[in-house]
Amino acid sequence: MAENYSFFSNKKCEYFPCHKVSDEIAEKDFNCLFCYCPLYLKEKCPGNPVYFVTANGEKIKDCSKCTFPHRAANYEEVLKCLMSKDEMLEVDISELIVDMEMEIEHSCGFESMDAEMKRQHKEIINAAYDKFFSEKKVKVILKQIDESVVTTAGFVFGEQTIECNALEKMNVAYGDIDSAYMYAFGIKDIDEKVLEESSLLEKYYVECLMIAATDVLRDWIRSYIERKHSVRHKKYVTDSFGPGFYGMDISAVPKLVKITRAEKVGVSVDKSGNMHPAKSCVGIYLVTKKEYGERIKDCAFCVGNKGGCAVCRGR
Ligand code: SF4
Ligand code: SF4
Repeated sequence: MAENYSFFSNKKCEYFPCHKVSDEIAEKDFNCLFCYCPLYLKEKCPGNPVYFVTANGEKIKDCSKCTFPHRAANYEEVLKCLMSKDEMLEVDISELIVDMEMEIEHSCGFESMDAEMKRQHKEIINAAYDKFFSEKKVKVILKQIDESVVTTAGFVFGEQTIECNALEKMNVAYGDIDSAYMYAFGIKDIDEKVLEESSLLEKYYVECLMIAATDVLRDWIRSYIERKHSVRHKKYVTDSFGPGFYGMDISAVPKLVKITRAEKVGVSVDKSGNMHPAKSCVGIYLVTKKEYGERIKDCAFCVGNKGGCAVCRGR
């Protein structure tokens, strides 16, 4: 039996019950509390909407066959959806292949190759991509967090602080931060058995492709957030703050994985602090009113410190 606060049947309504009652929903359990469904603006809602496109090209969500918000038992579920700031995205990395190839060409010195050599190497890259990337759709979890989490010392989540020296050096004015996002994704591991039988060059380019896929996907997420926040006024998104870079210690991995709820996209962390799949990423972006510094592409622009950077420590 539904509680009073969560259930109300408006039997005086001239439309009652405004959806066909069936085995799924009995008339006595018809809840009018969410008469206008509060989940309508969510692209992914738990109901069964139908989308159609009008003559002038507008995409309309049609909820006429959905009884989800009217089922008494779904009260908690509707609230959970309303409170959740998690966004689940599915990115097809095949659509990013050109950027991945460009990154590989840049980092593997293609500019010093003649045209024929370049062609041969590109062929190997394309074949390696088709052969090893069996799962081309990558799930990404995006979690919008309150901007008050960001302090000059680091990111503060309740009792826990994740230090990040770059924040102090970037000197972001608190009023300039509009929002913050945590994200996580993992690119499916390569089948080692198939890899064993490959040539050395093929193995090399498989690793390059995996690295390029993580970099390009991270950049895609950054642009996605920027587009989302720039509908009315231009906003900027910083580079990603993550464990091992920009003054954030690698030991932050388990904390970030847990807070982001990265397990929802298949990312886990073992006792040694390693993420699985091996090419997993977890980090934080800030949405700001002003652009903060050069986009950091390599160590030359790094605003972190050696203590928190895996690359620097390795030198
Ligand atoms: S949900 Fe709204 S329209 Fe439907 S029966 Fe109840 S009050 Fe009427
Ligand atoms: S009525 Fe159903 S389909 Fe429409 S937004 Fe609500 S839950 Fe989704």
